[in-house]
Formats: sequence, C-alpha cells, structure tokens
Amino acid sequence: MLQQSLRHLDQAYQRFFKGQGQYPERKKKGRSRDAAVYVRTGFKWMEDPKRPGTGLITLAKQSQPLDIRWSRALPAGTVPVRLSVTRDRAGRYFVSTLVEERIAPLPAVFVAESREPKAVGLDLGLASLVTLDDGTKLDHPRLLKRYAEKLARLQRELHKKVKGSRNRAKVRQRIVRLYALIGDVRRDMLDKLTTRLVRENQVLVVEDLSVVTLLRAARGRGRRRKAKLNQAILDAGWGELLRQLRYKCEWYGRTLVIVDRFFPSTRRCSTCHAKGPKMDVSVRTWACAECGVVHDRDVNAAVNIRDEGMRLYWLVAAGPPPGRKAPTVIRASELEECLLAA
Ligand SMILES: [Zn+2]
Repeated sequence: MLQQSLRHLDQAYQRFFKGQGQYPERKKKGRSRDAAVYVRTGFKWMEDPKRPGTGLITLAKQSQPLDIRWSRALPAGTVPVRLSVTRDRAGRYFVSTLVEERIAPLPAVFVAESREPKAVGLDLGLASLVTLDDGTKLDHPRLLKRYAEKLARLQRELHKKVKGSRNRAKVRQRIVRLYALIGDVRRDMLDKLTTRLVRENQVLVVEDLSVVTLLRAARGRGRRRKAKLNQAILDAGWGELLRQLRYKCEWYGRTLVIVDRFFPSTRRCSTCHAKGPKMDVSVRTWACAECGVVHDRDVNAAVNIRDEGMRLYWLVAAGPPPGRKAPTVIRASELEECLLAA
C-alpha cells in the first residue's frame, strides 16, 4: 500500500514536471532553469481560511512567507507534501506544489444488461490520431500540423548550417522549444481523451508501439525525411497516450491490454475474420471479399484490436484463481510466459 502511494506520488510528481500537475504558475518550458526542492520539513504551510486551497508558504531559514500569486488553488484542506521553487531564464520565480490526493477506483462498467466488462479498442494513425472501435475519430489538431510543418522547415534549415556554428545552435534551440510546445498541446489533448476513455470503459486495448512502428516504417517510400518526421510525431503521441492510460488505469481500477504481438489488425475483416488483401496507405475504406461488409480502415482495425484484447483479457480473467481482480496491465508478450508458468 505504501509502495502504491509512493508510486502515485512519483507519477504525480512526474506529471507536475511535465506541466500537468498542480502548480501556482505556468512555467516556460524548454529552457534551462534553476530549481530547488523542499520536502515536508523544509517549509511551513498555513492555509488561508478565507480562501481555502491558498495560503502562506514559508521556506526553511526564511522569516517572511513567500509572496505568491496563486494561478490555481490546491484542493481545499490538503497539505503540500513537496514544494519546488524554480527560476526561469528571465529571472522569474515559480513555486510548484505537490499534494497527495487519495484517488478512489471508479465503479466497474459493464456492457448494458450483461456481465461483460465494457471495452474499447484504440487504433493510432496518421489520418486520424486515434480511432475508436465505435467509429469515433480524434484528429490531429490543426495546430499540431502547423507545428509539424514549421518543424520540418527548421530541420531543413539546421542541415544547411555549418556544424558547430552559433547559427546552428540557435536553430537547434528553436527546434527544442517547438518540440516542447508540441508536447504540451498534445498532452493536454490526450489528457482529456484518456480521462474520458478510462471513465467510460473497464478494459482499454491498444497496440504496442513496436507493432505500429513496424507497420508504418514500410510505407515512406521516396519521402524519407517526412516519413521519419511523421513517425516521430506518431511515436511521441503513442508514448504519451500509453503513459497516461497506464497510470489512469491504475488509479481508477481499470485494465489496459497491450496487444504487442503482430496480428493483422488492418487486414482482418472484423465481421467474419477473413484475411483481406494488402492495402496501400491511401485506401481508407474497403469491402470484405467474403462477407461483403464495407469497412472504414481505421474503425475496422480498432474493432480487431478490441476483440484481440478481450480474448487476452478473458485468458487472464478466467484463469486461476477465480474471483481475483484482473491486473492493471496485460501484455500479450508476457502473457504466454505467465500462462506457461502457471
Ligand atoms: Zn468479412
């Protein structure tokens, strides 16, 4: 239990450093800055009874409390367990606090009028960032596309600059900052999506990055640099999505299934399971030669991913010992070994 809460603390702390946690001021990212961390004994906290969630913070060895402009109140009645004071390049100080919140698992969600846990399959792609098995599509925000173009331009610029020159360093710095910005936008967007998905579903199924990489890598003929860039954007999005789903599933008592073994999620007909022909990336819809059902390429893939995930889920959930809760994360590649060992 202690381990668990420590892990939560650590995750929360990581989130806070990535700009998602609670902190009084928004930090500028992608710049070097000085930081000092204060643990419980290193500061005094006095909550303001008139404005709960805000209050006076006095650092050790200081007589005066810090003059803080609160950008956001802490949950009322909580005590910060860790404090971080940073200074950015412009010389501004920021105070970030970490509070320990008790997160209760959500009640289990079942498919209406059945004992089947509600599940969702996610397909990640370049046409849509995420496609769900119910047909919902989350597009890459236009903002990200614009950033991607800018990034490509900067990278071309970088290649033209003399190695070791100051101009090259400048361009490099701009690329670093742009990456940080893209990361922020994506994290915010994915945060909303993953929260909703974890609330509405009991089992969440994703394909592993290595499988996705395998499939996309074969496509970028003739446009290697752009393909590489797309790949990087995709990888970053997928990594972030997986990271968020992992900790949210743990927090709320859900199960994340990672289908990390190759299986033809795109080519298989999700209705009759017949294997279709190889398809070019440009093909967005196709009709199954066996049963005639017309599929949206990504939705079909998401359905296959969900079904494969549920197959694995039942292998574990129905396995020994009866009545035990399904684990937070089920990985296909680890499953075989664990079933063999049992
Ligand atoms: Zn079919």
